Amino acid sequence: MRAVILSIGTELVSGLRLDTHSRDVARALTAIGIEVARHVTADDVEADIAAAFRAAVAEAEIVVATGGLGPTLDDCTREALAAVAGAPLEENAAAREHLEAWARSRGRTLSPSNLRQALLPRGAAVLPNPVGTAVGIELRVGRARVFCLPGVPAEMARMLAEEVLPRLRAAAGPRATLVRTLRTYGVPESVVGERLADLMAPGRRPHVGTALAGGMIDIHIYASGDTDEVRRLLDADAAAVRARLGDAVFGEGDEALEAALAALLAARRATISLAESCTGGLVAAKLVGVPGISAHFLEGVVCYADESKVRTAGVPEDLIRARGAVSEPVARAMAEGIRARSRADCGLGLTGIAGPSGGTPEKPVGLVWFAVADAAGTDAAREVFAGDRELIRERAANYALNMLRLRLMRQEAPEPRL
Ligand code: ATP
Ligand code: MG
Repeated sequence: MRAVILSIGTELVSGLRLDTHSRDVARALTAIGIEVARHVTADDVEADIAAAFRAAVAEAEIVVATGGLGPTLDDCTREALAAVAGAPLEENAAAREHLEAWARSRGRTLSPSNLRQALLPRGAAVLPNPVGTAVGIELRVGRARVFCLPGVPAEMARMLAEEVLPRLRAAAGPRATLVRTLRTYGVPESVVGERLADLMAPGRRPHVGTALAGGMIDIHIYASGDTDEVRRLLDADAAAVRARLGDAVFGEGDEALEAALAALLAARRATISLAESCTGGLVAAKLVGVPGISAHFLEGVVCYADESKVRTAGVPEDLIRARGAVSEPVARAMAEGIRARSRADCGLGLTGIAGPSGGTPEKPVGLVWFAVADAAGTDAAREVFAGDRELIRERAANYALNMLRLRLMRQEAPEPRL
């Protein structure tokens, strides 16, 4: 079974808003074994939407459209679908009842424009909307099943999960396309390619591919077929990738680097503190995004001025004068200073030049010194990141999180508490 996904909205075509529904619908359909043939985006213009529907029902057995079901005149998905199906628009009793119940529950009366939302093509089945006025539609057009959902993200997501997918799952059978994603940091793409060359051979099943994401490389493993068989194939490949890339693999699926670090801090029952300069608190912000981090993250200071590095992280003034704020000894002093002052198990210091100005031949834009201090001593690392100011800061923050992760991985896990 093949599907076409149709996103409707002028704001999507013009680029004012990113079409994320196509991605979400495609993932959901793919996961239940339905092949997505095409994504189409149409303007809020009846003739354009009708043309898109016409092409979609000629190509695929399933069409999932989102948007254009609202009460205003620019919402013309219903009209376009009726035209393509050759079915007149007429008041649908279930849709009318939904609108009246919605109005009653809010003590409102329905306006004529609200009542437009009860006009559906003859023969349409109503998909209930638990969180809004616009009902969804299922209608057979030729050999295709067409589903229309509202564009409002929360409504679309619930109706896709609760109405569309259950109906399609029954039709899709025990086949599925499953994806397993292993996330890596620190191994260049060329090296990943060499170590996984046989797994990545064209035409091999499962398909193994890489995707770069902010200095990290995601390894996607996917295959279609009988669900149980596909699971076994993906498990075997995931184990092979882990064996070949080792510590570089930090997580699976959507897991972020900071979440991997937080899990290690929890396993080691360790605490950390940060002294950040050019990242301006980005490392701290990422860590604080992980629920439960309060048990492990003691303190983060943004010591941007030299004077602040002295006052908040205890960096000796002479050191900054002699070696410059962006230097190995200052990064070390920041890590050791913040660790001592906050009594954390582990301290991170980070100082660099985010640009665009301020670089010199010896200290170019993108240069960042990192240091991690713990009971075993202090390690420092130097990197020069490419990119603009925002990218350099993002890459430096990820590098810092990974440096902490690797440091913690090498520590022994504590004895279980009795
Ligand atoms: P409804 O069918 O619920 O009336 P609509 O298209 O008429 O949907 P809009 O007001 O156009 O409603 O969209 C509601 C919100 O959902 C807007 O902020 C819109 O940008 C967003 N939206 C619509 N389609 C998409 C999409 N494909 N991806 C991301 N956001 C979307
Ligand atoms: Mg719209």
